[in-house]
Amino acid sequence: MVIFPPSPTSALDWTNPADFKLPNVNGHIESKYDQATGEWSALQFVASPYIQVHGLSAGLNYGQQVFEGLKAFRMPGSPGSIAIFRPDRNAIRLNRSSSVLSMPMVPPDLFLRACRAAIALNAEYVPPHETGWGMYCRPLLFASGPTYAPGVPDECTFCVYVFPTPAGVQGVSADAVKALILDDFDRAAPKGTGHAKAGGNYSGVIRWSGEAKAQGYGITLHLDSARHEHIEEFSVCGFLGVKGSVSNGDDKITICVPDTPCAIDSLTSDSVQHIARSWGWQVEKRPIPYTELPEFDEILGAGTAVGLTPIRSITRRIAEGQNGKLARNAKVVDDEDRGAETVEYIPHGERGGGPVFQKLLAELRAIQLGQTKDDFGWRFEVKASDGQI
Ligand SMILES: *Cc1c(COP(=O)(O)O)cnc(C)c1O
Repeated sequence: MVIFPPSPTSALDWTNPADFKLPNVNGHIESKYDQATGEWSALQFVASPYIQVHGLSAGLNYGQQVFEGLKAFRMPGSPGSIAIFRPDRNAIRLNRSSSVLSMPMVPPDLFLRACRAAIALNAEYVPPHETGWGMYCRPLLFASGPTYAPGVPDECTFCVYVFPTPAGVQGVSADAVKALILDDFDRAAPKGTGHAKAGGNYSGVIRWSGEAKAQGYGITLHLDSARHEHIEEFSVCGFLGVKGSVSNGDDKITICVPDTPCAIDSLTSDSVQHIARSWGWQVEKRPIPYTELPEFDEILGAGTAVGLTPIRSITRRIAEGQNGKLARNAKVVDDEDRGAETVEYIPHGERGGGPVFQKLLAELRAIQLGQTKDDFGWRFEVKASDGQI
Protein backbone atom coordinates (compact mmCIF):
# COMPACT_ATOMS: atom_id res chain seq x y z
CA MET A 1 0.00 0.00 0.00
CA VAL A 2 1.25 3.47 -0.87
CA ILE A 3 1.60 5.77 2.09
CA PHE A 4 -0.26 9.07 1.73
CA PRO A 5 0.64 11.79 2.20
CA PRO A 6 4.28 11.40 1.23
CA SER A 7 6.87 13.13 3.41
CA PRO A 8 7.75 16.68 2.45
CA THR A 9 10.38 16.66 -0.28
CA SER A 10 13.97 16.98 0.91
CA ALA A 11 14.80 18.88 -2.29
CA LEU A 12 13.57 22.11 -0.66
CA ASP A 13 14.98 23.94 2.35
CA TRP A 14 12.04 24.19 4.73
CA THR A 15 14.05 25.99 7.38
CA ASN A 16 14.69 29.35 5.77
CA PRO A 17 11.53 31.38 5.05
CA ALA A 18 13.43 34.53 4.08
CA ASP A 19 15.20 32.88 1.14
CA PHE A 20 12.37 30.61 0.04
CA LYS A 21 11.70 30.95 -3.70
CA LEU A 22 8.70 29.82 -5.72
CA PRO A 23 9.69 26.22 -6.55
CA ASN A 24 8.68 24.15 -9.54
CA VAL A 25 6.13 21.56 -8.50
CA ASN A 26 4.90 18.48 -10.38
CA GLY A 27 2.25 20.30 -12.37
CA HIS A 28 -1.20 21.91 -12.38
CA ILE A 29 -4.82 21.00 -13.17
CA GLU A 30 -6.76 22.25 -16.19
CA SER A 31 -10.31 22.04 -17.46
CA LYS A 32 -11.83 23.82 -20.44
CA TYR A 33 -15.35 25.13 -20.89
CA ASP A 34 -17.06 25.02 -24.25
CA GLN A 35 -19.94 27.46 -24.61
CA ALA A 36 -21.45 25.43 -27.45
CA THR A 37 -22.02 22.38 -25.24
CA GLY A 38 -22.08 24.14 -21.87
CA GLU A 39 -19.70 21.44 -20.62
CA TRP A 40 -16.43 21.45 -18.73
CA SER A 41 -13.83 18.94 -19.92
CA ALA A 42 -12.52 16.22 -17.59
CA LEU A 43 -9.81 17.47 -15.24
CA GLN A 44 -6.36 17.11 -16.69
CA PHE A 45 -3.02 17.09 -14.91
CA VAL A 46 -0.47 19.12 -16.88
CA ALA A 47 3.18 18.59 -15.96
CA SER A 48 4.21 22.11 -16.87
CA PRO A 49 3.49 25.51 -15.38
CA TYR A 50 2.71 26.89 -18.86
CA ILE A 51 -0.74 27.18 -20.47
CA GLN A 52 -1.62 27.23 -24.15
CA VAL A 53 -3.63 30.39 -24.67
CA HIS A 54 -4.60 32.29 -27.82
CA GLY A 55 -2.98 35.72 -27.97
CA LEU A 56 -6.35 37.25 -28.90
CA SER A 57 -8.17 35.72 -25.95
CA ALA A 58 -10.49 38.00 -23.98
CA GLY A 59 -8.64 36.93 -20.85
CA LEU A 60 -5.47 38.60 -22.09
CA ASN A 61 -7.05 41.46 -24.04
CA TYR A 62 -10.10 42.48 -22.03
CA GLY A 63 -9.17 41.31 -18.56
CA GLN A 64 -11.87 38.64 -18.52
CA GLN A 65 -10.19 36.79 -15.71
CA VAL A 66 -10.82 35.95 -12.06
CA PHE A 67 -8.91 34.01 -9.43
CA GLU A 68 -9.03 32.56 -5.94
CA GLY A 69 -6.56 31.99 -3.14
CA LEU A 70 -6.73 29.30 -0.46
CA LYS A 71 -4.39 27.12 1.53
CA ALA A 72 -3.81 23.50 2.49
CA PHE A 73 -1.82 22.40 5.52
CA ARG A 74 -0.13 19.26 6.77
CA MET A 75 -1.70 17.98 10.00
CA PRO A 76 0.41 16.69 12.93
CA GLY A 77 1.69 13.11 13.07
CA SER A 78 3.32 10.70 10.68
CA PRO A 79 2.30 10.20 7.97
CA GLY A 80 -0.37 12.62 9.17
CA SER A 81 -2.79 14.01 6.63
CA ILE A 82 -3.40 17.09 4.50
CA ALA A 83 -6.44 19.34 4.77
CA ILE A 84 -7.60 22.29 2.69
CA PHE A 85 -9.08 25.23 4.58
CA ARG A 86 -12.68 26.06 3.61
CA PRO A 87 -12.41 25.44 -0.16
CA ASP A 88 -16.21 25.22 -0.40
CA ARG A 89 -16.34 28.97 0.30
CA ASN A 90 -13.77 29.81 -2.34
CA ALA A 91 -15.83 27.83 -4.86
CA ILE A 92 -18.82 30.06 -4.14
CA ARG A 93 -16.76 33.25 -4.26
CA LEU A 94 -15.13 32.31 -7.58
CA ASN A 95 -18.58 31.99 -9.13
CA ARG A 96 -19.64 35.35 -7.77
CA SER A 97 -16.55 36.86 -9.39
CA SER A 98 -17.03 35.00 -12.67
CA SER A 99 -20.63 36.21 -13.01
CA VAL A 100 -19.42 39.81 -12.57
CA LEU A 101 -17.00 39.28 -15.48
CA SER A 102 -19.61 37.46 -17.66
CA MET A 103 -17.93 34.09 -17.45
CA PRO A 104 -19.56 30.69 -16.89
CA MET A 105 -19.97 29.12 -13.49
CA VAL A 106 -17.42 26.54 -12.38
CA PRO A 107 -19.52 23.81 -10.72
CA PRO A 108 -18.46 23.75 -7.04
CA ASP A 109 -17.87 20.01 -7.27
CA LEU A 110 -15.45 20.53 -10.19
CA PHE A 111 -13.72 23.32 -8.26
CA LEU A 112 -13.27 21.11 -5.20
CA ARG A 113 -12.09 18.10 -7.19
CA ALA A 114 -9.56 20.29 -9.03
CA CYS A 115 -8.15 21.72 -5.79
CA ARG A 116 -8.00 18.27 -4.20
CA ALA A 117 -6.30 16.78 -7.27
CA ALA A 118 -3.75 19.60 -7.53
CA ILE A 119 -2.78 19.09 -3.90
CA ALA A 120 -2.83 15.28 -3.97
CA LEU A 121 -0.60 15.21 -7.06
CA ASN A 122 1.84 17.68 -5.48
CA ALA A 123 1.55 16.34 -1.94
CA GLU A 124 5.32 16.13 -1.31
CA TYR A 125 5.38 19.93 -1.69
CA VAL A 126 2.98 20.50 1.19
CA PRO A 127 5.34 21.93 3.84
CA PRO A 128 6.17 20.03 7.04
CA HIS A 129 3.60 20.52 9.77
CA GLU A 130 6.16 21.86 12.25
CA THR A 131 7.07 24.80 9.99
CA GLY A 132 3.53 26.20 10.08
CA TRP A 133 3.91 26.96 6.35
CA GLY A 134 1.04 26.27 3.99
CA MET A 135 0.49 25.08 0.45
CA TYR A 136 -1.02 28.01 -1.42
CA CYS A 137 -3.65 27.00 -3.93
CA ARG A 138 -4.44 29.33 -6.82
CA PRO A 139 -7.55 28.59 -8.90
CA LEU A 140 -7.66 30.71 -12.03
CA LEU A 141 -10.45 31.20 -14.59
CA PHE A 142 -10.15 33.17 -17.81
CA ALA A 143 -11.58 33.51 -21.31
CA SER A 144 -9.02 31.63 -23.41
CA GLY A 145 -10.46 31.40 -26.93
CA PRO A 146 -9.70 33.79 -29.81
CA THR A 147 -12.00 36.78 -30.21
CA TYR A 148 -11.89 40.37 -31.39
CA ALA A 149 -15.05 41.54 -29.67
CA PRO A 150 -15.74 41.62 -25.94
CA GLY A 151 -18.63 39.34 -25.04
CA VAL A 152 -19.65 36.13 -23.36
CA PRO A 153 -16.65 33.87 -24.07
CA ASP A 154 -16.85 30.79 -26.33
CA GLU A 155 -14.11 29.11 -24.41
CA CYS A 156 -12.81 29.43 -20.86
CA THR A 157 -9.94 27.74 -19.08
CA PHE A 158 -10.02 26.86 -15.41
CA CYS A 159 -6.70 25.96 -13.75
CA VAL A 160 -5.52 25.17 -10.28
CA TYR A 161 -1.89 25.84 -9.38
CA VAL A 162 -0.28 25.04 -6.05
CA PHE A 163 2.97 26.06 -4.42
CA PRO A 164 4.40 25.89 -0.91
CA THR A 165 4.74 29.23 0.86
CA PRO A 166 6.22 30.39 4.13
CA ALA A 167 4.01 33.53 4.08
CA GLY A 168 2.31 34.12 7.39
CA VAL A 169 4.76 31.90 9.19
CA GLN A 170 5.72 34.57 11.72
CA GLY A 171 2.35 33.81 13.28
CA VAL A 172 1.63 35.44 16.59
CA SER A 173 5.10 36.97 16.70
CA ALA A 174 4.41 38.85 13.45
CA ASP A 175 5.83 42.33 13.34
CA ALA A 176 3.19 45.04 13.11
CA VAL A 177 3.02 47.10 9.90
CA LYS A 178 2.27 50.76 9.33
CA ALA A 179 -0.70 51.49 7.07
CA LEU A 180 -1.23 54.48 4.77
CA ILE A 181 -4.65 55.59 3.56
CA LEU A 182 -4.73 56.13 -0.20
CA ASP A 183 -6.65 59.29 -1.03
CA ASP A 184 -5.26 59.62 -4.56
CA PHE A 185 -6.37 56.24 -5.86
CA ASP A 186 -9.56 54.17 -5.55
CA ARG A 187 -9.41 50.43 -6.08
CA ALA A 188 -13.19 49.91 -6.31
CA ALA A 189 -16.20 52.04 -7.22
CA PRO A 190 -19.68 51.57 -5.84
CA LYS A 191 -21.59 49.46 -8.39
CA GLY A 192 -18.25 48.61 -10.00
CA THR A 193 -16.27 45.37 -10.07
CA GLY A 194 -14.17 45.85 -6.92
CA HIS A 195 -15.97 43.07 -5.07
CA ALA A 196 -14.86 40.55 -7.72
CA LYS A 197 -11.50 38.85 -7.28
CA ALA A 198 -10.49 39.90 -10.78
CA GLY A 199 -6.90 40.49 -11.83
CA GLY A 200 -7.62 43.94 -13.24
CA ASN A 201 -8.47 45.24 -9.78
CA TYR A 202 -4.94 44.65 -8.53
CA SER A 203 -2.37 46.01 -10.94
CA GLY A 204 -3.67 49.57 -10.62
CA VAL A 205 -2.70 49.74 -6.97
CA ILE A 206 0.86 48.47 -7.39
CA ARG A 207 2.49 51.83 -8.01
CA TRP A 208 0.67 53.35 -5.04
CA SER A 209 1.51 50.55 -2.65
CA GLY A 210 5.08 50.61 -4.00
CA GLU A 211 5.37 54.33 -3.24
CA ALA A 212 3.88 53.80 0.21
CA LYS A 213 6.33 50.97 0.90
CA ALA A 214 9.26 53.19 -0.03
CA GLN A 215 8.00 55.61 2.63
CA GLY A 216 7.83 52.91 5.29
CA TYR A 217 4.18 51.89 5.01
CA GLY A 218 3.90 48.12 4.61
CA ILE A 219 0.22 48.20 3.67
CA THR A 220 -2.29 50.60 2.09
CA LEU A 221 -5.89 51.18 3.16
CA HIS A 222 -8.81 52.21 0.96
CA LEU A 223 -11.78 54.37 1.90
CA ASP A 224 -15.09 54.32 0.03
CA SER A 225 -14.41 55.83 -3.35
CA ALA A 226 -17.55 58.00 -3.51
CA ARG A 227 -16.82 60.13 -0.43
CA HIS A 228 -13.66 58.86 1.21
CA GLU A 229 -15.51 58.80 4.51
CA HIS A 230 -15.77 55.12 5.38
CA ILE A 231 -13.21 52.36 5.79
CA GLU A 232 -13.31 49.79 3.02
CA GLU A 233 -10.37 47.36 3.10
CA PHE A 234 -6.63 47.10 2.78
CA SER A 235 -5.31 46.68 -0.77
CA VAL A 236 -4.73 42.97 -0.33
CA CYS A 237 -6.66 41.98 2.77
CA GLY A 238 -9.75 42.67 4.86
CA PHE A 239 -10.06 45.21 7.70
CA LEU A 240 -10.99 44.26 11.27
CA GLY A 241 -11.32 46.84 14.05
CA VAL A 242 -11.14 45.62 17.65
CA LYS A 243 -12.58 47.31 20.71
CA GLY A 244 -11.73 46.02 24.18
CA SER A 245 -8.93 43.86 25.44
CA VAL A 246 -8.47 40.28 26.62
CA SER A 247 -5.84 41.31 29.14
CA ASN A 248 -8.33 42.51 31.76
CA GLY A 249 -9.72 39.00 32.11
CA ASP A 250 -13.39 39.64 31.33
CA ASP A 251 -13.07 39.60 27.55
CA LYS A 252 -15.52 42.35 26.58
CA ILE A 253 -14.49 42.41 22.96
CA THR A 254 -16.22 43.81 19.90
CA ILE A 255 -14.94 43.10 16.40
CA CYS A 256 -16.04 45.62 13.78
CA VAL A 257 -16.12 44.67 10.10
CA PRO A 258 -16.81 47.20 7.33
CA ASP A 259 -20.14 46.59 5.62
CA THR A 260 -19.48 47.70 2.07
CA PRO A 261 -20.44 46.39 -1.38
CA CYS A 262 -16.95 47.20 -2.71
CA ALA A 263 -14.68 44.96 -0.65
CA ILE A 264 -13.73 41.34 -1.27
CA ASP A 265 -15.64 39.07 1.09
CA SER A 266 -12.56 37.83 2.99
CA LEU A 267 -12.84 34.24 4.18
CA THR A 268 -10.12 34.83 6.76
CA SER A 269 -12.19 37.68 8.18
CA ASP A 270 -15.28 35.47 8.09
CA SER A 271 -13.41 32.70 9.94
CA VAL A 272 -12.21 35.13 12.60
CA GLN A 273 -15.78 36.43 13.02
CA HIS A 274 -17.02 32.86 13.60
CA ILE A 275 -14.28 32.22 16.17
CA ALA A 276 -14.99 35.52 17.93
CA ARG A 277 -18.72 34.77 18.16
CA SER A 278 -17.99 31.28 19.50
CA TRP A 279 -16.16 32.95 22.39
CA GLY A 280 -19.13 35.19 23.10
CA TRP A 281 -17.51 38.27 21.58
CA GLN A 282 -19.61 40.82 19.71
CA VAL A 283 -19.26 41.10 15.95
CA GLU A 284 -20.60 44.22 14.24
CA LYS A 285 -20.77 44.38 10.47
CA ARG A 286 -21.59 47.98 9.63
CA PRO A 287 -20.19 51.06 7.91
CA ILE A 288 -17.09 52.24 9.78
CA PRO A 289 -16.43 55.96 9.44
CA TYR A 290 -12.82 57.09 9.16
CA THR A 291 -13.37 59.26 12.23
CA GLU A 292 -13.95 56.12 14.34
CA LEU A 293 -10.36 54.93 13.92
CA PRO A 294 -9.09 56.41 17.23
CA GLU A 295 -11.75 54.42 19.12
CA PHE A 296 -10.24 51.03 18.21
CA ASP A 297 -7.75 49.27 20.43
CA GLU A 298 -6.36 47.03 17.69
CA ILE A 299 -6.60 46.89 13.91
CA LEU A 300 -6.02 43.65 12.01
CA GLY A 301 -5.59 42.82 8.35
CA ALA A 302 -7.17 39.49 7.32
CA GLY A 303 -6.21 37.43 4.28
CA THR A 304 -5.27 33.90 3.26
CA ALA A 305 -1.67 34.78 2.43
CA VAL A 306 -0.72 36.00 5.90
CA GLY A 307 -3.62 34.94 8.11
CA LEU A 308 -3.82 38.01 10.34
CA THR A 309 -1.51 41.03 10.26
CA PRO A 310 -1.30 43.41 13.21
CA ILE A 311 -1.50 47.06 12.15
CA ARG A 312 0.86 49.35 14.01
CA SER A 313 -0.64 52.64 12.89
CA ILE A 314 -2.84 54.24 10.23
CA THR A 315 -1.71 57.46 8.59
CA ARG A 316 -3.70 59.82 6.40
CA ARG A 317 -2.22 62.76 4.54
CA ILE A 318 -3.88 66.14 5.08
CA ALA A 319 -4.30 68.32 2.02
CA GLU A 320 -2.63 71.71 2.12
CA GLY A 321 -4.70 74.32 3.98
CA GLN A 322 -6.99 71.63 5.49
CA ASN A 323 -7.28 70.34 9.03
CA GLY A 324 -7.17 66.75 10.17
CA LYS A 325 -10.55 65.05 10.55
CA LEU A 326 -9.87 63.09 13.71
CA ALA A 327 -10.83 64.14 17.20
CA ARG A 328 -7.66 64.16 19.26
CA ASN A 329 -7.20 61.38 21.79
CA ALA A 330 -4.27 59.51 23.25
CA LYS A 331 -3.87 57.40 20.11
CA VAL A 332 -3.81 60.24 17.60
CA VAL A 333 -0.23 61.23 17.02
CA ASP A 334 -0.16 64.90 16.24
CA ASP A 335 1.98 65.29 13.18
CA GLU A 336 -0.37 67.70 11.48
CA ASP A 337 2.43 70.12 10.72
CA ARG A 338 4.02 67.39 8.64
CA GLY A 339 0.82 67.19 6.63
CA ALA A 340 -0.58 63.97 8.03
CA GLU A 341 -2.48 62.56 10.96
CA THR A 342 -1.71 59.17 12.44
CA VAL A 343 -3.58 56.85 14.78
CA GLU A 344 -1.14 54.65 16.63
CA TYR A 345 -2.24 51.24 17.92
CA ILE A 346 1.11 49.71 18.74
CA PRO A 347 3.58 52.12 20.26
CA HIS A 348 6.91 52.74 18.64
CA GLY A 349 9.47 50.21 19.82
CA GLU A 350 6.96 47.43 20.55
CA ARG A 351 7.09 44.62 18.03
CA GLY A 352 4.21 42.19 17.76
CA GLY A 353 0.43 42.50 17.69
CA GLY A 354 -1.96 43.05 20.60
CA PRO A 355 -3.67 40.44 22.78
CA VAL A 356 -6.79 40.09 20.60
CA PHE A 357 -4.63 39.59 17.51
CA GLN A 358 -2.61 36.92 19.31
CA LYS A 359 -5.62 35.06 20.64
CA LEU A 360 -7.51 35.05 17.33
CA LEU A 361 -4.52 34.10 15.19
CA ALA A 362 -3.47 31.29 17.56
CA GLU A 363 -6.95 29.76 17.27
CA LEU A 364 -7.18 30.24 13.51
CA ARG A 365 -3.76 28.62 12.98
CA ALA A 366 -4.57 25.77 15.37
CA ILE A 367 -7.70 24.98 13.36
CA GLN A 368 -5.89 25.29 10.02
CA LEU A 369 -2.97 23.11 11.14
CA GLY A 370 -5.14 20.44 12.78
CA GLN A 371 -3.98 21.15 16.31
CA THR A 372 -7.49 21.53 17.68
CA LYS A 373 -11.01 20.25 17.01
CA ASP A 374 -12.65 21.27 13.77
CA ASP A 375 -15.94 22.38 15.31
CA PHE A 376 -16.83 24.53 12.31
CA GLY A 377 -16.19 21.83 9.69
CA TRP A 378 -13.54 23.88 7.91
CA ARG A 379 -10.93 21.21 7.16
CA PHE A 380 -11.35 19.23 3.94
CA GLU A 381 -9.04 16.23 4.02
CA VAL A 382 -7.15 15.37 0.82
CA LYS A 383 -6.87 11.64 0.05
CA ALA A 384 -4.55 9.72 -2.26
CA SER A 385 -7.60 8.87 -4.41
CA ASP A 386 -8.16 12.59 -5.07
CA GLY A 387 -5.17 12.38 -7.41
CA GLN A 388 -6.92 9.81 -9.62
CA ILE A 389 -8.59 12.04 -12.16
C1 LIG B 1 -8.36 37.88 -1.60
C2 LIG B 1 -8.54 39.23 -1.02
C3 LIG B 1 -8.82 39.43 0.33
C4 LIG B 1 -8.76 38.34 1.36
O1 LIG B 1 -9.63 37.29 1.19
P1 LIG B 1 -9.32 35.93 1.94
O2 LIG B 1 -10.43 35.06 1.54
O3 LIG B 1 -9.29 36.20 3.39
O4 LIG B 1 -7.99 35.45 1.45
C5 LIG B 1 -9.07 40.73 0.76
N1 LIG B 1 -9.02 41.77 -0.07
C6 LIG B 1 -8.70 41.63 -1.36
C7 LIG B 1 -8.66 42.83 -2.22
C8 LIG B 1 -8.45 40.35 -1.87
O5 LIG B 1 -8.14 40.19 -3.14
